[in-house]
Amino acid sequence: MKKTDLAKFKKVLEEQLVELQKDASVKLVEANSNNSALPDVNDQASFETERNFELRIKDRERKLISKYQKVLRKIDDGTYGVCESCGGEIGVKRLQARPVTTLCINCKSEMEAEERRQENLMQHGGRSIKGSTGGSAPFV
Ligand SMILES: [Zn+2]
Repeated sequence: MKKTDLAKFKKVLEEQLVELQKDASVKLVEANSNNSALPDVNDQASFETERNFELRIKDRERKLISKYQKVLRKIDDGTYGVCESCGGEIGVKRLQARPVTTLCINCKSEMEAEERRQENLMQHGGRSIKGSTGGSAPFV
């Protein structure tokens, strides 16, 4: 990838990361200020539900933030835009659409197909597994 492209991606990623972190810290303050008064048990219960929900969102945010930090490191060490799975080029167009991606479109769709297979297996009670030893792990 060209140095100018890299610089552009770095700027975009850094800006998005700053936004994310701003967002995350605002929500944290709100969550803490809700913490004070809990009049009755019902409120307590819905508070817990809300809190779990928020924790899940925060978890996702945290993962996303670390993803940004990871790809920013990749820009610095020169591996940005290289597919983590096959080592091929991810392609500028794909990176423009999804700057935090670390997989090329082929590997990504393979992975998604694999995830769907796993989901199907779980939904159908795994009856299509015939003496499988669980040894199929294509992304190790
Ligand atoms: Zn790939």
